[in-house]
Amino acid sequence: MVKIAIMGASGTIGKNVAFTLAEEDSIEEIILFSRPSSYEKITGEILDMDDALAAENTDAILTASCDYADLEGCSLVLITSGIPRKEGMSRLDLAVPNAKIVREYAEQIAKYAPDSIILIVTNPVDVMTTIALEASGFDKKRVIGLGNHLDSLRLKTILSKHFHINSGEVHTRVIGEHGDHMVPLVSSTTIGGIPLKYFVESTNLDIESLVNRLKSAGGTIISKKGATEYGPSYAVSNLISTIVNDSRKILTVSTYLEGEVEGVYDVSLGVPVILCKRGIQHIVPVKMNKFEKDTFFEAARTVKKATYAVKDELSK
Ligand code: NAP
Repeated sequence: MVKIAIMGASGTIGKNVAFTLAEEDSIEEIILFSRPSSYEKITGEILDMDDALAAENTDAILTASCDYADLEGCSLVLITSGIPRKEGMSRLDLAVPNAKIVREYAEQIAKYAPDSIILIVTNPVDVMTTIALEASGFDKKRVIGLGNHLDSLRLKTILSKHFHINSGEVHTRVIGEHGDHMVPLVSSTTIGGIPLKYFVESTNLDIESLVNRLKSAGGTIISKKGATEYGPSYAVSNLISTIVNDSRKILTVSTYLEGEVEGVYDVSLGVPVILCKRGIQHIVPVKMNKFEKDTFFEAARTVKKATYAVKDELSK
């Protein structure tokens, strides 16, 4: 049985993740950590969640906190705190203010939960993964970011709807940046075990428009309802439940690269990894065609530049 914490718990993603994971048998306690100004709201959220959970006969321990000492004993801490992306804003517009929050929280996690895994959702998530890694001083296997797992779920949805098939038949993956330079691995996508290029022979799939839809998927939701909610929250819950149950699934997370994929180094990007209870067991090698490889290199250049720009600002 494990204890986890969610920082920024009063936010859309934080509270949705808490509610979803409250039903996870292997999690004993969830700390809903927030700024003092949100403490009352959090206690209200917990009372409301408890009523809903009673309908499922679930007695989860949900604890409101704004005291870092309550992070003690956590095996995983999720950071969702940050300023959310509004319509027209790029993820990079959020980088400096959010990096200050992530740096502060990662330092406190290292102090109070030194053996934990840090999972970051705050955008721009690939930049934040490096910021949290450096601020915590943790081994890189224990600092991971959500981004391309959500993009992969979105691509899966787009393809299953296009072909009118069960989403479980679609095996696909998006790597690179959680942003404009994401790399949908179309060349290794399979439908029911059949490579996409053979499956689509008779169906005229317009890959370019599909990729454009994928890239704008988050922005489209934000323009219609103000924020993304269920997609990221379920994607995060998926990662956490894989980790706490030691399920060893191959999922795509942002991790600091040191040459493991196409020699790319000194930048955090989304790549497939085997996830286990210690964090990343190892990075899974990826085969890309030339176009995918070039886009991956472009992602590396863009995110590395942004990371260094943010680090410069933080050092002022
Ligand atoms: P939200 O509803 O606005 O919640 C963010 C939370 O951050 C707030 O409730 C607050 O929590 C905390 N916060 C706000 N300003 C802060 C400050 N100045 N200092 C410290 N904490 C502060 O946002 P959301 O929709 O949950 O999104 C959270 C983050 O995830 C955003 O950065 C968003 O862009 C990102 N995101 C990432 C993905 C991905 O796939 N990686 C997907 C969607 C969203 P407390 O008051 O409780 O501390």
